[in-house]
Amino acid sequence: MRLQFLGAAGIVTGSCFLLETANTRIMVECGMYQGRKEIRERNYQSFKVPPRSVDYVLLTHAHIDHSGLIPKLIKNGFKGIIYATAPTVELCEVLLPDSAYIQEMEVERKNRKNRRAGRNPIEPIYTINDAYKSLPYFQAVNYDEIIRLTPDIRMRFVDAGHILGSAMIEICVREGGAEKKLVFSGDIGNKDRPIVKDPSYIDDADYVIMESTYGARLHGQEEKEIELLHGLIWATYNKGGNLVIPAFAVERTQDLLYHLYLLMKEKRMPAMPVYIDSPLATAATEIFWKHHDFFDEEAAGLIQEGEDPHQIPGIRFTKTVEESMALNKADRTIIISASGMCEAGRIRHHLKYNLWRPESTVLFVGYQADGSLGRQILDGQKTVRIFGDEIAVKADIKFIESYSSHADQAGLAEWVNSFRKPPQEIFLVHGEPEASAALADLLRTQHGLQVTVPVLQQVVELPPPETAAVQEDNIKTLHDSIAARLQGLLASGIDNETRGEILRGLTDLEHIINKAGK
Ligand SMILES: [Zn+2]
Ligand SMILES: [Zn+2]
Repeated sequence: MRLQFLGAAGIVTGSCFLLETANTRIMVECGMYQGRKEIRERNYQSFKVPPRSVDYVLLTHAHIDHSGLIPKLIKNGFKGIIYATAPTVELCEVLLPDSAYIQEMEVERKNRKNRRAGRNPIEPIYTINDAYKSLPYFQAVNYDEIIRLTPDIRMRFVDAGHILGSAMIEICVREGGAEKKLVFSGDIGNKDRPIVKDPSYIDDADYVIMESTYGARLHGQEEKEIELLHGLIWATYNKGGNLVIPAFAVERTQDLLYHLYLLMKEKRMPAMPVYIDSPLATAATEIFWKHHDFFDEEAAGLIQEGEDPHQIPGIRFTKTVEESMALNKADRTIIISASGMCEAGRIRHHLKYNLWRPESTVLFVGYQADGSLGRQILDGQKTVRIFGDEIAVKADIKFIESYSSHADQAGLAEWVNSFRKPPQEIFLVHGEPEASAALADLLRTQHGLQVTVPVLQQVVELPPPETAAVQEDNIKTLHDSIAARLQGLLASGIDNETRGEILRGLTDLEHIINKAGK
């Protein structure tokens, strides 16, 4: 079989891997590139194989960097099945149309510019309509259910503990009488998160395709994130400003809601109203509460006790644009809004109205991709551009890294070490180059593992074709058999000239073998 790295190679976003056997093409993830403009341009390139030729898409979770190009795949001819867990399917039902809406808005803005400059208009990568057309291709799978894709290929999803419904995917492929097992880690969760379970450990695998987002970092916060959040809420309240939290609509917003709910229940909150200002986060929250069965023990326990973190007095979900705009005048308010990297959505308005206010706090709780507005703020830029305006950064900028839904370096190493026997090879993806390199180094030197950091478009043959060492072995065997035959000839009594020729030939042969051996 062949494995090709079509995305998330040397970068965090754009996850896409193609697994090919003699008769079957499987795409694992079909993600969108996010971050700086040159990177996002890649979303417009055509697929490396005709989408019609792909039999299955296996999707680990709903995040756009894993699912975002599915509507484009279908628009371009894909006719197969997309397997994902039930929460992933439902989250995609809101995330993909939302992603399409963002594309359409962005293209409309670009086209206004293009028209003024006399240039031809461009088309969005896909439209809202394309996104809706892709939904019937999804088919829900349960964790741990074994699904046979073909007589020679079977697969299984297990809980990745990253976001609701997230999975790692095991694929077993039988070829030439031998079976090989691949594991695609998807995004590996951080342990002890609210709501989701801890990531699953896997018994064995021949090849592992593994994320490395935090391959070079330890989250390293001793204090529990709920306590850090509590401290920042009071600090902002005392300064008289707003606490603005850019948060991914899926999982992070619900994690924060869960902690705010606990703080309110324990009567530890100041008089600060909380607003969730993101239609997407509101829709995602509704999907979450429908799937208690995917919660960890603690969160599921609360619900069994009749508690409902969904209905929290003091937490409001804005519905209209007017309600959202009213927050521009807010004081002593907690505003949770998307997108998590501040690339789009209502959060940009809240940053515009709060970044320049020293009494406000902007709290990051998730990964900020290279080049994103969130990264610029977090990296300490003095001013940033929002909607064409220059905005000074005077607010307190904070980051509670342990809210991350990604395992850190220690968590990643622990996950790999849980395999009962070391995999033959580990491919590190979904990381910026320094992060993947640091993790590769750690896994090679401290754990003695065979690690590759593939480059974009790299193709690997699995199992790898015979190595140089094996070829040397073959030369040696060949030499021995030729030598034996020649010795036989010598012993059978031939003339001196022929004898001399044969001896010279043998010396040459030995010379070649020795050279190959070096
Ligand atoms: Zn993710
Ligand atoms: Zn991801």
